[in-house]
Amino acid sequence: MTATSIVKLPDGTELELGEGATGADAAQAIGAGLARAALAVRVDGELRDLSAPLPDGAEIAVVTDRDDEALALIRHDAAHVLATAVVELWPGTKVSIGPAIDSGFYYDFEFPGDFRPSEDDLPRIEEAMARHVAADEPFERSELPVDQALERFRAEDQPYKVELISDLIRDQGVETVSLYRNGPFTDLCLGPHGPSTKRIKAFKLSSVAGAYWRGDESRQMLSRIYGTAFFSKADLEEHERLLEEARERDHRRLGPELGLFRLRPESPGMPFWLPQGTTLLRLIEAEVQDQLKKRRYAEIKTPHVMDVDLWHRSGHYDNYRENMYFSEVDGREFALKPMNCPGACLVYDSERRSYRDLPLRMAEFGHVSRHEREGVLHGLLRVRAFTQDDAHVYCTLEQISGEVDSICEAIDELYARFGFADVRVELSTRPEKSIGSDSEWEHATAALREALERQGREFDVSPGEGTFYGPKIDFHITDALGRSWQCGTCQIDFQMPERFELTYQGEDNAEHRPVMIHRALLGSMERFAGILIEHYAGRFPAWLAPIQVGVLPVADRHNDRAAAIAAELEGAGLRVSVDDRGESVGRKIRDAELAKLPYMVVLGDREVESGELAVRSHEDGDLGAMRAADLVSRISA
Ligand SMILES: [Zn+2]
Ligand SMILES: [Zn+2]
Repeated sequence: MTATSIVKLPDGTELELGEGATGADAAQAIGAGLARAALAVRVDGELRDLSAPLPDGAEIAVVTDRDDEALALIRHDAAHVLATAVVELWPGTKVSIGPAIDSGFYYDFEFPGDFRPSEDDLPRIEEAMARHVAADEPFERSELPVDQALERFRAEDQPYKVELISDLIRDQGVETVSLYRNGPFTDLCLGPHGPSTKRIKAFKLSSVAGAYWRGDESRQMLSRIYGTAFFSKADLEEHERLLEEARERDHRRLGPELGLFRLRPESPGMPFWLPQGTTLLRLIEAEVQDQLKKRRYAEIKTPHVMDVDLWHRSGHYDNYRENMYFSEVDGREFALKPMNCPGACLVYDSERRSYRDLPLRMAEFGHVSRHEREGVLHGLLRVRAFTQDDAHVYCTLEQISGEVDSICEAIDELYARFGFADVRVELSTRPEKSIGSDSEWEHATAALREALERQGREFDVSPGEGTFYGPKIDFHITDALGRSWQCGTCQIDFQMPERFELTYQGEDNAEHRPVMIHRALLGSMERFAGILIEHYAGRFPAWLAPIQVGVLPVADRHNDRAAAIAAELEGAGLRVSVDDRGESVGRKIRDAELAKLPYMVVLGDREVESGELAVRSHEDGDLGAMRAADLVSRISA
């Protein structure tokens, strides 16, 4: 009698296979079409090679290009093919690691001698890769005892692999490691991989950058080559179209071009806001202010610079020191605030509080400074100084739920106002390392969950991803290019009231500890401005445009009338600029177009005579002649 094994398929049916049968065998047993499409197999929840034997009784699912995880799989395949090509073109190259990432993959290399690749080298690497993809080379896995693996990579002069294996032995006590071979190239790799190189249907290398080995600035600087891969040429083309579009919308280019902000070497990561950009920030802030009023938040301001003792007490000195700026004055050590919470706690503590004061809601547009390495700074999206639309709510356990409802509503209304309809919500629960009692955690997590359920929201749960002081909800928006941005957050905190010994007098006259909710609706105001710039490609809707109307006199003799019209429009609350340069009106119209102004008003003899304005809207084209008051009501609507 032949031994058999039985595996369970996703639809619950059982499949009988010969002993030692692999994922590929299972796919074949289900159907020839599936066998051809199969890339890997999920075995009891873990992704494995098709060639891996299936344990008896396993729950399996054959993975094809329709599965979410398949793209990362072939991108990792492509990283190996990239290394294959590089080692072939530059023998003696030392290879390190090459993972799949959200946008594709990379591989880090130490090239021989002084050679450093540039983007000019990418086409020939791609050519070599294409040869290995066309050759349809299988990915073959093998297991090797660690001493043999060490010997092998030492002999090949691959020190990074030797270090990786040594660490695996030291940290995890492994006795064997897995290697993957494709064509002439063998890599130390956990896997899994697709069956062969030809499954990478479309790929492209995009850029070269420096990257320290293990991200450690004291270690070797390696050359990182980035690329991406897809299951079809069409998908790759769509990806490139989106990249091109993203380049055109890049806020780092549009910001200076539209006179919004500048980044200067005098203060890396700390943007200089120009008049129009400052107007944009004020307009964004006004929307947040509306929510504060509507939801009865009081506004406070706390100092930028506070004694280091405070940061010891808050825990920031121990946990966040590397990201803080310090200064010594009069023999006293101070720190720039990286967060607003301790300041808010001091405000809470400045008075005796009673249960009648709760929930106590205090908002602060707090300017915070956080040191980041210069290499990771990115326009307005990753900076060293920014303004949080922060707030802290002090309340009882029972009040959490109502406060969370209100915060979620505020976020919905605010995001919709800025043109983001698609809001993704993520609930993060208790991490392994955390403080607070079980019952507090249960109550707070349930309050967050119930609030989301009561609002009929879909949400993802990230188990163990909460902060050490409490569970949280994060809010993500999707921009015009389909990119997701985490903006708002709502975090329950048991820790800080404890550290600051905050109390309120209860109905029972005893002293109680309040719960603290940290919440930000937009997160960083400046970063949100950056997201808006890209979302609208700099072409803001009229209500949000720093300048709503450009008044363009045809000739110098119309300048006085233009100034008068501008004053009238401004008097009615519009934001207006006048282009009274000695340029032709054609040039003025072109420049107003480049400045992405929502409305232009051209003033010539005819308009001066008739008293009407010739109005052009970017959105609706020529609107013909109208009175100033009509333009005002059109824009205000
Ligand atoms: Zn690999
Ligand atoms: Zn806070």
